[in-house]
Amino acid sequence: MPLDPWMFMGKIDAFEKEGTDNVLTKLWEGGIRTIVLGDLILDGHPAFAPNPDCYRDTKTRPPAMPAELAPRARIVADAVKAAKDRGFGVYLHDWGQFQGKCLNDPEYVKYGIARSRDAFEHYPGLNGFIADGPEYGYEIEPEHRSNIFRCFCECCEAKAKATGYDFEAIRLAADRFQGRLSHLDRNVVERLVEVPTGLFDPVDMLLWEPDLFDWLRFKTESILDLLGGMRTGIRQVDPGLHLACGPRTAAFAPLTAYNFRRLSEVTDFICPKFYFWMHGIDGMKGTVYRWAKTFIDWHAWMSEELALKLVYKIFGFTLPGVACLEDLGKPLSGAFFTETVAGEISKAILRVGDVWRIRPWVGLHHGGVRMDASEMSPIMVAMEQGGLKSYIHWHYSDMQPVEWEIVKSFCAR
Ligand SMILES: [Zn+2]
Repeated sequence: MPLDPWMFMGKIDAFEKEGTDNVLTKLWEGGIRTIVLGDLILDGHPAFAPNPDCYRDTKTRPPAMPAELAPRARIVADAVKAAKDRGFGVYLHDWGQFQGKCLNDPEYVKYGIARSRDAFEHYPGLNGFIADGPEYGYEIEPEHRSNIFRCFCECCEAKAKATGYDFEAIRLAADRFQGRLSHLDRNVVERLVEVPTGLFDPVDMLLWEPDLFDWLRFKTESILDLLGGMRTGIRQVDPGLHLACGPRTAAFAPLTAYNFRRLSEVTDFICPKFYFWMHGIDGMKGTVYRWAKTFIDWHAWMSEELALKLVYKIFGFTLPGVACLEDLGKPLSGAFFTETVAGEISKAILRVGDVWRIRPWVGLHHGGVRMDASEMSPIMVAMEQGGLKSYIHWHYSDMQPVEWEIVKSFCAR
């Protein structure tokens, strides 16, 4: 079965550089029927001037748009109208919906809804919004921007109290977890990577450390409250508007407190990141590398092979053909796509149920080591064979001609 590709317009100045008509004609003739615009930035400023009436109930003030950007902003607004007139679906990705740092800031939902209302006024006919995240961290590397041991700020404390969690207990559980990961017992690790495990092994661990489970539950519920609150507010702006979000792929999602099943109840669809590259923001190989490297840094006895086996055990997948850290910089093997990627697709479908509610982001890099375009077709084959129907290509202005040919060749039209 062919796929329904959506195209992410990651640089909205593409319309002024190439001409709106040229861009839309190219995409339509290539079989694209939905575009995702984002992030709504022109020269570091928002692409529309805020309507202060939308922000009457928010403490956060929206950023102004310099007057000289008005003609360029008009091109973007006209492009949205032209796309709608041609029959494209149009979504926004990261539309300036939050200015703060913590997802438990009560201002997040209020401001997010206000910003969505404002955006909808500027771009009438929008189909909806796709948030990047919001999520908790997923890296154990100290000082990484996505550190899993954050956040424990005053907003999190207030949220924990309001939702019945013992904030101090979950903070200490996170501390103990970090302590355990950084002081692993060699015999335990060597046994763990070989022993078969099933569904109830994580249950066994969480029964041993119930506060750790409370920490994960707290994070999951705060994300559901945030997205559920935003969707309710966005539906009040217009009942037809959709809200989607972008978790990491199934293997990493629980770590970031994303439960695909419950997430599907508060969003219209989810866009897991099928990002597999090395380094950068944030590919599967990059995360595997950072976890394995950090384990090695923390434990003088840890070999690269054992560290990788441990990471595979933790996340429930393997990278076939990767036995040392240097291998992560090489192209992925065929077995990776037919086994690991296929496994991630199956897991997502198992958790969500409806394949139309899963629309992965697919790209070859975001910083880091760019994957070869030849690695793109096997991802598409795995999606087709795994039963997925649609995906979002990252992204139009970064796309090489060979990538565009691959997108078109798998297209339903
Ligand atoms: Zn916080």
